[in-house]
Amino acid sequence: MPDIDTLYNYVTTGQLTHENLMPVTHNVLASYFAFMFAIWIGYIVHLNMDKAAYVGVLGTSAYISHLLLDDIVHESGNYCLFPLYNHPISMFTNLGTMHASGDFLIVF
Ligand SMILES: [Zn+2]
Repeated sequence: MPDIDTLYNYVTTGQLTHENLMPVTHNVLASYFAFMFAIWIGYIVHLNMDKAAYVGVLGTSAYISHLLLDDIVHESGNYCLFPLYNHPISMFTNLGTMHASGDFLIVF
């Protein structure tokens, strides 16, 4: 689901990349919407709020693991805090294997 921007770019530009909408679809706020969407789907399927919550946690875990994998693939990282901070952040800066594009994490 976070890579819906790739499908949009393929239809509009013919390229299978994240480029244009990545800040909108790859952030923590979008994972909240994924959580709510997964709960809604879980409730429709099970008609039980407890089971819907499990589906929500599963959907959010999948979404956040996708962000971590994209962070490994993209050298500059993801726009994890997009509405608040409009620059890519790499969560693997401390490992020394990835290039940090900003100084946001270095400050803390
Ligand atoms: Zn992605």
